[in-house]
Amino acid sequence: MSTLLLEIVTPERTVYAKDVNMVILRGVEGEMGVLRGHVPTVTPLKIAAVVAKIGGKEERIAVSGGFAEIRHEKVVILAESAELPNEIDLDRAQLAKKRAEDRLRTNSRKDEVDFRRAELALQRAMNRISLRG
Ligand code: ATP
Repeated sequence: MSTLLLEIVTPERTVYAKDVNMVILRGVEGEMGVLRGHVPTVTPLKIAAVVAKIGGKEERIAVSGGFAEIRHEKVVILAESAELPNEIDLDRAQLAKKRAEDRLRTNSRKDEVDFRRAELALQRAMNRISLRG
């Protein structure tokens, strides 16, 4: 089966760079399965796991939004942060989840910016937790 290069890059480091058979992304318009030869495009990403299929195996990477640039032979993901499952500190993610939930409970939308920030923090924490589950 043909391959394409998947690169996941944050401002700090290259988190992932491998030849894979398929990439599954959660774009703002829904889930996309990307194979070699895909129509070139750029899409914003949701806070979600990116799934790389290699042979019969799957690798998951927690990606906190950002953009995917899709070309015929590669996918480059630029995100504020991204982690492999074994890099995720579960305790830290659970604390972040609790903090965000407390903020959402007490804020009651008085401050829209704070509310949105807490919603995004909650999504990042839940995405990380789901990768360790
Ligand atoms: P926290 O409130 O715990 O910092 P956050 O969602 O605000 O969580 P980010 O701003 O997304 O954190 O990430 C900041 C840096 O910390 C990034 O390098 C990210 O990879 C890393 N990071 C965040 N949470 C975790 C975690 N639970 N385990 C490992 N690395 C993490």
